[in-house]
Amino acid sequence: MPSLYKTPLTGLKGVGTKRAELFRKLGVDSVGELLNFFPRAYEDWTSVEKIANMLEGGTYCIRARLGTAVYNSVKSGGIVLAKTTVYDDTDKLELVWFNNPYISQMLAYGEEYFFYGKINISNYGAQMISPTFAPVSKGAMIHPVYRTTAGLYNKQISAAVEQSLALLPETVNDPIPEYIRKKYGLCGLRQALCDIHFPKTRQALDKARERLVTEELLVLNLGMRGMKGRNRGVSGVRIAEDHSREFEKLLPFEMTGAQKRAIADCVADITKNSEPMNRLIQGDVGSGKTAVAASLCYTVAKNGFQAAFMAPTEILARQHYENLSKLLENTGLNVALLSGSLKESEKKRVRSGLAEGEIDLVIGTHALITDKTEFRSLGLAVTDEQHRFGVAQRAALLGKGENPHLMVMSATPIPRTLGLIIFGDLDISIIDELPPSRKPVKTVLRRGADRPKIYNFIRKEIAAGRQAYIVCPLIEEGELADVASAEEYAAELMLRDFSDIPVAVVHGKTKPDEKERIMSDFAANRYSLLVATTVIEVGVDVPNASVMVIENAERFGLSQLHQLRGRVGRGSFQSYCVLISDRRSHDTLERLNVMCATNDGFKIADEDLKMRGPGDFFGERQHGLPQMSIADFADTKSLERSQKIADDIIYTYKDLRNDELRLLKAEVDRLFSRGGQYTLN
Ligand code: ADP
Ligand code: MG
Repeated sequence: MPSLYKTPLTGLKGVGTKRAELFRKLGVDSVGELLNFFPRAYEDWTSVEKIANMLEGGTYCIRARLGTAVYNSVKSGGIVLAKTTVYDDTDKLELVWFNNPYISQMLAYGEEYFFYGKINISNYGAQMISPTFAPVSKGAMIHPVYRTTAGLYNKQISAAVEQSLALLPETVNDPIPEYIRKKYGLCGLRQALCDIHFPKTRQALDKARERLVTEELLVLNLGMRGMKGRNRGVSGVRIAEDHSREFEKLLPFEMTGAQKRAIADCVADITKNSEPMNRLIQGDVGSGKTAVAASLCYTVAKNGFQAAFMAPTEILARQHYENLSKLLENTGLNVALLSGSLKESEKKRVRSGLAEGEIDLVIGTHALITDKTEFRSLGLAVTDEQHRFGVAQRAALLGKGENPHLMVMSATPIPRTLGLIIFGDLDISIIDELPPSRKPVKTVLRRGADRPKIYNFIRKEIAAGRQAYIVCPLIEEGELADVASAEEYAAELMLRDFSDIPVAVVHGKTKPDEKERIMSDFAANRYSLLVATTVIEVGVDVPNASVMVIENAERFGLSQLHQLRGRVGRGSFQSYCVLISDRRSHDTLERLNVMCATNDGFKIADEDLKMRGPGDFFGERQHGLPQMSIADFADTKSLERSQKIADDIIYTYKDLRNDELRLLKAEVDRLFSRGGQYTLN
């Protein structure tokens, strides 16, 4: 319906420029968008309850006749109370509205209506408070409940939608080809739109929802594929020799079998000399992904191309830089760091080194993808902790070379269904083995009152030469401070409990260079205890640390807790994770007990997705996916189905540019232009 997207709302009865402005606040600017403004909930008026059967607190639809005219009375404070009594064949009931003097004109004595509302039973008897209603002649329906904004009511939105539906032509052009609809039992678009707004039955609603959810996920799925490096054409990067054996000799340890397999997968990709590598290396925290990436960088650099390794934070970039530059010290390769916190002159020097081709391997942050950074011959782009980067950023890094190879690494075990969408048809190597001598981290749940014991334990570990982290959650501004801030907490610890132990603090406001100093001092064991907010969450590697204490553990998502826990247990020492929480609600206990029960990142990710949904799963929408209007990422069944349909469509039509897919392609473009950060080829 492209034309309805161009039809302004002001063409509808009852929508003037003022009301159109209110609709705009809801993100609705045209008739087409209004049709896609789906109800957030429904009032089911199809199952009518008898007055005598209603229970306190329940929400019901009744069919009843007015036994009295509605009368208004003014209460103290000027509140207008509208009241009437209605009856059915079982009992009578009082209805009450506040501050709506017009009710009396809308309801007629002796007439029969449907009323829908919540029952409140008090000393004054049973009342239905502010029920919505409709004459019985309109028939029992499932009524849509829309998201509203001040000055725009549900009834007005619903009236505008009703008119918009009437504007739909008899045959609506459907983005999903008929062949596909038939095969997967999906109803047509016209039907779906009518039934999602004004379903006659539950079944009709379910059918409509299924169709629309499937379409939205399908569109997302196809869009993500469109952005993929697949079909990037032949890579300009020629890699002739595999140098991974040579690289292994540089390492102070023996690679695990899983690491070797991942490297072999990558080497096979890049020496094929056809299309470039597009590979996701997925491995739990501590599985040794860095060494895998480094090996590839080494091979690529030894073949005369440049490699870029992008990390999401300064700390991580700096740490990778320090490790890799040491490791590659006597190999003749030139390793550099490029991050936001470097001095301008320093950045300039590195950038010219990259442009000239003097630097073989650069490790950096987002500074790598700014316009100013140019490469002479980028052969491999690596992104660490990929879920932290948007798809667009990944693409930007690739744009720095001529079809370079791509390797993305992720420690967050993304549930399979989501992974399929986010990473689409990336090839995947899974590092499913931890380095030997690793002992699983022992995790326990404790209360705040146990702190003295916990601190004693920390002392014992520190006395044995180990180090410890204490993590406090970030405090959002305006939040009640029942949570100690990292600084206050650390100050207290330093003064009281650990006055004889070197303690450092890192938090959101710590300056980058200060942060780096502290982290490298901690890594060098100049501090025994690090109090931090979540800035240490990603990737930080201090094998000597053996205790991770997490305050207010209930505030973190499971995957986040797992990441944090991954900061310990990285060496050969038995390590411990202590979750502190005073919440004892069922949900909290269930979540935190998952942490105590398993160290398996995939299991935890699945639980997390089940319990919290994907928005929270990633935190702050870091996955970079566009906003969905009806689909839910936790809906595994629909995800898998849309994936299957996408496969089918690609298989059947080969290319989205096929004329039969014109409308579907337009939907893809629309979805991905919403966030403004996507471009499709
Ligand atoms: P992650 O997969 O979480 O990025 P890292 O690459 O940071 O893990 O590796 C974690 C730690 O394990 C590092 O200290 C690294 O040097 C070490 N490591 C990696 N591979 C091995 C191995 N095969 N044997 C022993 N230690 C290893
Ligand atoms: Mg890592």
